[in-house]
Amino acid sequence: MAYANANDRYRPVINRVLLGVSIVVGIGGCRRPMSSGPRPPQAERVPVAALSVPAAPIAVRAAGHTALVYELHVTNVGTRPLSIERLEVHGEAIGPVGPLAVYDRRQIQRDVKFLAPRGAPIPKTLTPGARAIVYVWLSLDTTAAVPRELSHRVIFSGADTADGGTTPVRGPTDLVLAPPVGPGDWWFGLGPSNSSEHRRAVVRVGDDTVPHLAQRFAIDWVKMDARGEYARDHEGRRNTDWYGYGEPVYAAADARVAAVVDSIPDNVPGENSRAVAMTVGTVLGNYVVLDLGPGDRAVHRYALYGHLEPGTVKVHAGDVVHRGQELGSIGNSGNSDGPHLHFHITEAADAAAAPLRSEGVPFVLAEFTVVGHDPELVAKHASLTPLGGHRNALAVEGDVIRIADGRR
Ligand SMILES: [Zn+2]
Repeated sequence: MAYANANDRYRPVINRVLLGVSIVVGIGGCRRPMSSGPRPPQAERVPVAALSVPAAPIAVRAAGHTALVYELHVTNVGTRPLSIERLEVHGEAIGPVGPLAVYDRRQIQRDVKFLAPRGAPIPKTLTPGARAIVYVWLSLDTTAAVPRELSHRVIFSGADTADGGTTPVRGPTDLVLAPPVGPGDWWFGLGPSNSSEHRRAVVRVGDDTVPHLAQRFAIDWVKMDARGEYARDHEGRRNTDWYGYGEPVYAAADARVAAVVDSIPDNVPGENSRAVAMTVGTVLGNYVVLDLGPGDRAVHRYALYGHLEPGTVKVHAGDVVHRGQELGSIGNSGNSDGPHLHFHITEAADAAAAPLRSEGVPFVLAEFTVVGHDPELVAKHASLTPLGGHRNALAVEGDVIRIADGRR
């Protein structure tokens, strides 16, 4: 397939198509040990770090494996800088059975992001009060038992250790969706992976202490032709040159429309040509949020369709829509370099008021065919989705998938 060969003509632009909502801000609530008052006995170690998993992983079939995708937060509650040497992920509890996975210093450095306390600059290391977000993507053999619970041991240089971050494992996900787009070939730029811009974007709204990762499993759907080109003229200087521009987007499930924005002008394609100033209120461009109803914890799930073409949204807040119903058209509004659909699912108390103040959750597509892979990402990722037909699986970053006619 054309996709299996390097096709550099689309790389330079496609590589920049993203919803880079990367608002990194400080956290509050971290306490240092009391400097006065009773001291613990000398034999008792004062904890140096607190571990937590704010969003429990939900098992999902992806790239031929069962994936558990989550973040371990390591907060320095001591008085000295910490350096993470090793992370052990244990199934069930830490015990005689060895760890499920071990990450060394090099792997952690690749998959960590640091957040500072409120008002402080972004730290480069885990200084007192700072929080390290370690991005974890566990790939289990599909025949292996999925642990019901995970716990963690972090070993720091200097032999300090911290145990904790115990979290249930949810799922496997029961959210089976129809494709949000029509027939054709679609490149999953910035699709689910442990390193995509979506995955790494942390958003803190208002007085939140723990950041949200609404885009944990977000996908940018970019339409391609059979040669792997995104634009008719190979350049895509105008929105109308892009194959995806104006293509309809569809309800991925029966739902109620929770929110609609339809008044932001399209950008001219490119990195530095935003039609309006970028704020939390404009980064998504024109969008539709669908309320998919409650999931397994009675918390509602929401589907977000971003960067829509202005004036094309066909639904209103409160409308009931059915799977396959047309919602609007792909555009290039908001924080977007070229026409594409930004699509993700979140759990939230109320995603209508603040769509990014929510937690990204996985889903599976009922049916799709992988027809190629992005050559650059073949080299980067351990596994992409195998070529051929798939049911009830999540396609990942680097896949090029074909949606057949009449599959909605
Ligand atoms: Zn996006």
